[in-house]
Amino acid sequence: MELDLNAYWMPFTPNRHFKSAPRIVVSAKDMFFTGDDGREILDGMSGLWCVSAGHRRQPIVDAVKAQLDRLDYAPAFQIGHPSAFMAAERIAALAPAGLDHVFFTCSGSEAFDSALRIALGYWRARRQGNRTVLIGRERAYHGVGFGGISVGGIPANRKAFGSLLPRVDHLRSTYVADQHAFARGEPEWGAHLADELEERIIPLHDPSNIAAVIVEPVMGSAGVFVPPKGYLQRLRAICDRHGILLIFDEVITGFGRLGKTFAADYFGVVPDMITFAKSVTNAVVPLGGVLVANAIHDTMMQGPAHAIELMHGYTYSGHPLATAAALATLDLHRDEELVARAARLAPYIENAVHGLRDVPNVVSIRNLGVIGAVELAPRPDAPGQRGYDVFVECFNQGVLARATGDILVFAPAFIAEHRHIDRMVDTLRAAITKVG
Ligand code: PLP
Repeated sequence: MELDLNAYWMPFTPNRHFKSAPRIVVSAKDMFFTGDDGREILDGMSGLWCVSAGHRRQPIVDAVKAQLDRLDYAPAFQIGHPSAFMAAERIAALAPAGLDHVFFTCSGSEAFDSALRIALGYWRARRQGNRTVLIGRERAYHGVGFGGISVGGIPANRKAFGSLLPRVDHLRSTYVADQHAFARGEPEWGAHLADELEERIIPLHDPSNIAAVIVEPVMGSAGVFVPPKGYLQRLRAICDRHGILLIFDEVITGFGRLGKTFAADYFGVVPDMITFAKSVTNAVVPLGGVLVANAIHDTMMQGPAHAIELMHGYTYSGHPLATAAALATLDLHRDEELVARAARLAPYIENAVHGLRDVPNVVSIRNLGVIGAVELAPRPDAPGQRGYDVFVECFNQGVLARATGDILVFAPAFIAEHRHIDRMVDTLRAAITKVG
């Protein structure tokens, strides 16, 4: 196939390098892509942590086709269509008790932005409109909107984009290499890191000014950082003591990645809002959203009945194709017990990735649920180069991993079998050894 690669400016991609040696896939099924050269490539990342039921699953394909034959689009504002209401009801039923309302968006970045707006709108509705300070965390990834990069804590995603949102502060990252480098699952050490919120950040801003604390329960995009045991529980308790909202960004962890439907279930911590996207539709059609606590939603249902309660929304909020895909995806999760399958896969992944401990240049290995990460020592003169070279070598050897700097990540679909995990890890071992 002759492709002109020039016009498409690829996101989060070194465009010049890619276009000098492109990696093009043309089809996919279950655990595999097919490349334009006919090679099979094992998808060790379920796309971008989103094709959690495996590629091109027939029930989802059929549901989207049927929806397309029925209703292609309906305005998202002032008009409704059945599958949006049905999908919202279904998602709320899966969420922790008390989060019974769903605001739909088209992506994780938008979901994050909407959650911030709902938080600010809520405080204003409670006549506490001065509560506008947002507390995020170093290394956090919350997508690419200005809210997301401001509350997020990845320096490279922020440095080029100016002054960002005012009134944002950050907790420190929970990752402490000395303590956590080869921790299996949740590290034992570090719950007290949450105390920084109460000891330093809340007094600095005063609780009366703080709208919300927002965290990914497990940090994904920055390279997989698992919270120490008890850390999230402490954050919840501190937020409760000071009347501050706690928001979980579950764009990666939502819909089964940790072997429970939400990370909130896994950790036994109920936040006031949960953002989701990715796996909710198995990535077949983009969809994101915010699960909102009843107390927040109900507070905002005020003013004259003809007035809009939240001046916010997207043309494609609750798009018919996306919500049809969500319903079919959640049916598939139920019918194939995919979340339980993810839970069963987790210990196998843990053992497999920790088996790489003795490979040269491996400095840290982390895992939880269906996620495994292997961190390599950076080359002194070129941080990120070794990770990128290993990623390319894995792809050339027929396995898609993800490189974040010098951290290589696997987060396969929940239908992965042991032989798939073995192949991912064996390929990674060979690639690290070859790249040197
Ligand atoms: N939030 C988290 C925790 C994510 O991991 C991501 C994407 O990886 C996003 C938000 C952004 O989602 P999207 O790329 O759909 O905008």
